[in-house]
This record gives sequence, structure tokens and C-alpha cells, in this order.
Amino acid sequence: MSAAEGFVPWPDDYAARYVARGYWDGVCLDERVWSVAARRPDAPAIVDGSTRLAYGELTDRAAAAAARLSAIGLAAGDRIVVQLPNRWEFVALVLACFRAGVVPVLVLPALRIREMRAIAERAGARAVAVAREFRGYDHERLAHAVAGSVPSVEVVLVADAADQRSLDLSALCEPSPKPTRRYSGDARGVALVLLSGGTTGPPKLIARTHDDYGYLVRRSAEVSGFDERTVYLAVLPVEHNFAFGTPGVLGALLSGGCAVLAASPAPETALGLIEGERVTHVSVVPTVLQRWMVQCADHPGRDLGCLRVVQVGGAPLPVHVARRVHTVLSGRLQQVYGMGEGLLCFTGLTEPEEVLHATQGRPICPDDELLVVDDNDRPVGPNRPGVLLVRGPYTVRGYYRAGDDDAQAFTADGWYRTGDVVRRRDDGNLVVEGRAKDVIIRGGENIAAAEIEQFAYQVDGVQRAAAVARPDERLGESICLVVVVAPGAVVELAAVHAVMKRAGTARFKYPDHLVRVDSMPVTGVGKVDKRALRELVAGSAVSSAGAGVGR
Ligand code: AMP
Repeated sequence: MSAAEGFVPWPDDYAARYVARGYWDGVCLDERVWSVAARRPDAPAIVDGSTRLAYGELTDRAAAAAARLSAIGLAAGDRIVVQLPNRWEFVALVLACFRAGVVPVLVLPALRIREMRAIAERAGARAVAVAREFRGYDHERLAHAVAGSVPSVEVVLVADAADQRSLDLSALCEPSPKPTRRYSGDARGVALVLLSGGTTGPPKLIARTHDDYGYLVRRSAEVSGFDERTVYLAVLPVEHNFAFGTPGVLGALLSGGCAVLAASPAPETALGLIEGERVTHVSVVPTVLQRWMVQCADHPGRDLGCLRVVQVGGAPLPVHVARRVHTVLSGRLQQVYGMGEGLLCFTGLTEPEEVLHATQGRPICPDDELLVVDDNDRPVGPNRPGVLLVRGPYTVRGYYRAGDDDAQAFTADGWYRTGDVVRRRDDGNLVVEGRAKDVIIRGGENIAAAEIEQFAYQVDGVQRAAAVARPDERLGESICLVVVVAPGAVVELAAVHAVMKRAGTARFKYPDHLVRVDSMPVTGVGKVDKRALRELVAGSAVSSAGAGVGR
């Protein structure tokens, strides 16, 4: 099955409009990077520890890797699951994929066998690429376990491979003196696949085309003030849309700037990199920002004057934190609201402080269509909160290889239901006021409550289970599992964790707290009243997991 099958295209009249307005310009992502490399071969492109790659070297390596991908049998349209830490090989491999027409499926390093297997299956992946080890976890073994259980996966590529069955990724990315040929790609075709945040059931894959993703990256680079002098620091996982393309690493490369890759957002390392590499732009989730601000307050004296823009998004940013960003970190705050499915909003760099602090900005494209609706899909008035529906030149029309799963997420006429409750102010800026979807955003990671509940039901003695967000100073939101237990039964959090561990679930989804109630509050139609539960757990004493859970 080729990459095109299972992809939901935009209707012809919309596509024609997006072409006519210049959003879709028919240029593939690799062509964009290669044309920068042709102009500035010696300019720094990637910094990863002591490895520094100039544009010429990066594209030489990626071109050679593209040829080798073809040589090992990966054809244009084949999918490869890429789960690499923030290392230069990630960038070289993804560019190689673009060059060879192979489609990278970008997966967070925190995901484990349960999620990886489901993703590889759904994508019909032919290969998996990982690093041998990351944060004490054996990803090479994980990749082989995926290959062993998903028949389509034939190739395991590993950075620093130890297992003889693996192909070495660093060797794949060695420059080659042989000239390589480019796969003549179609800019309307699938370039990459992202993962939807916080979904349950089969993973939801988001296929992005060269045209639509190219537009989004260029435009977000523009509104973020990226240019050839930009030094962007990637501290969030590069597989996430935020650090990859909004504008992220790809935005830095398309602008002729440099991307510095950090293995983690740990404050000491990240702030050291900002100072040492003269970083101009960084993107973080609010919890990371807060940790950095604490570190700066505790250890003043760093020279962070180089930092021009601090982009914060992925989860709600408290206004009192927003107000302090500039004084503590020197850079100007830029709020970012968006999603892997498409829509992106940024606060403008020259907006008044009130807009920067209290809003999540405006959409990047004049043809982004936004509809704010009530529970019956009827538009609410201006400046009133409602659920946001969206369509546009870089918002997908359906999930990739989704079968019937799209019905809930997309309307019949192609609107994507974000599940976010927003208010659109008279000045056009959006304020994200809440969430209508049952998702917890823990430290910037989206987690579906239903997924946790399914595990809780597997624990002996659990009669009813509901997972809700509990405000948390460090994580923004933590996961609180509320249970009704059978008479005489004892249910501990550890038992829930044990079930999740056995299933091979990512650790960041493990609930942080457990609350026992005698009966679940229900709404008028008999559904669990999650709002009441959120209020209950926000104030109540909870039993919590030991230190280190879920990191
Ligand atoms: P993802 O696709 O993983 O980027 O997750 C997208 C979701 O994260 C959105 O639908 C929102 O629920 C949430 N989100 C992203 N940015 C923000 C923000 N600035 N403020 C509040 N929630 C956000």
C-alpha cells in the first residue's frame, strides 16, 4: 500500500484556492533545505554536542542516506517509524526520507511497546529507527520487539547499534562520494506523519503533505522572526510538531539558521546551551519554562541577552507566569497554540503586553477558517466561549489510514473538532479557556483519560474508574484516578501502575494520584460528571505515587 492510500485529500476547489493564493507552491521540503545548502554550504546548520554540521555536510549526509535507504529496499511511499532522541542523526534521516520519498512517522521517545506496535501496524511501516539507548531505556530491544510482532517491519535502524540484526544509522548517514539521484516527489504527496496527542484506541496518525507542511513551516518561521541569524534551541522532543516544524528545527533550516539539539530540557544544560551557543529562539511547554525560571532565580548571573524569543505552548500558560518571562529570561514571550492536525496561532512579536500575556494569538493564515460552536454545533456569538472547529490550507481533512475513526474528529464538511474551548476576542486573538475533550495535559503531554480508565478496570476490586486532571505546580496538570471499589477490596495506585507496566505503556501516562469515592457523581444523562470530579480532587487529599513516577 502506498503512502497516498489512506490519505484524505482536500476537496479540489479548496486545493485550487490554496494554490492560487500561494500557500501551496509545489516545492518539496527537501528541495527547500537543499536550496539553502546550495546558497550557504558552510553556514552552521546543526549543533549536537560536539558535532557541528554545516549545511553542505548535512545535505551530503542526507543525500547519501537517501541512496542507502533505497539500496536496502525502502521505496518511495514506504513508511518508517522514527523514534530518536534529539540528535543530528534524526535530522539527517528525516531529510533523507524526504529526499527518497520515504515517509517518516515521527514518534516520541517516551512511547513504549504498546504504543509503538500499534503505530507501526496502523502506519504499515516497513522500518523502525531508534537510538540504542535513551534515558536508561533499551530502544534497540524495543525496535526489535516491534519488528518481531508487526509483519510489515523488516528493517531496524539504530544509532550506535549493538545488536547484529540492526543496521547502523550513523553508517547510513556517512557522506558518500557517489552522486545521488533525487526521487522526483510530488508536493501534494505525503511528506511525513505526526501523531495526534492524547488519543485512545488505535493511534491517530496525521499525514502532512510537502505543500501544507511547507507552508506552515515558512509562515510560522516568518511570524517568529526566523532568519539566517537564528539559532534555535530544540529541548522538547524533535518528533513533536512544536519542536520540529512550528517553526522548530525545520523552520531554522528553511530560514538558513542553525538548530541546536539538546537531549533534554533540564534547566542547567538548556540554559548553559542558550548562553554558550548564543541561542536566539527557543520553544518550551509551560512546565519547562517554569523550571527554567526557578533555576534563573536561584542561580542568577547567566548572560541570556542573546535570547530574543521564548515560544511557549502545548498547554495553558498561567498569566502570572507569562508576565515574568521577559524579566527573568530576557527573551520576549510568544504564545503558541496549535495542534498536530493543523491550526497554529501565535501572538505577534510586537503586540502590546496584554495580548502577549493573556492570549494565545491569532491564526497564521488568512484562509484559516475558525468556527466557535456550542454543544449543538451552533456558532456562538463573538467573544463568547465555545468549542473550536477549524479548516484551512494546513489543517488535515481526516486522519491517515483511519477507517471509521474520523467520524468523531471531523465533521462531514471537513471541519476538525479541536475539542478546545476558546474565545475569539474582537481583536482576533484567541484565548484558550478550557477543554471539551477528555484529555489531561501533563507536563505538556496529552493523555486520553479513557486510556487510563481502561487499565484501572483491569485491577481487581475496581468497580468504577474515572481519570481527571488535578492542578499541579510542577506539571501544570497531574493525573488523578478516581475509583469506586468493591466492598472490602483495597486498591492501590501501584496496582494500576503494574497493569500499565505489563501492557508496555509509556510511563508519563501512569496516574499520579488515587482518590477513592463511595459513588461517582453523574450528570443529568448519567455520564460521569468529570467537572464535579475535577473540583473534588482539586481540593481533596489524595494518595500519591512515589517520587519519580511517570517521568
Ligand atoms: P498536540 O497535537 O500534541 O500539539 O496537542 C494539541 C492540543 O494541545 C491542543 O488541541 C490543545 O488542547 C493543547 N494546546 C496546545 N497549545 C496550547 C496552548 N497554548 N494553551 C492551551 N492548550 C494548548
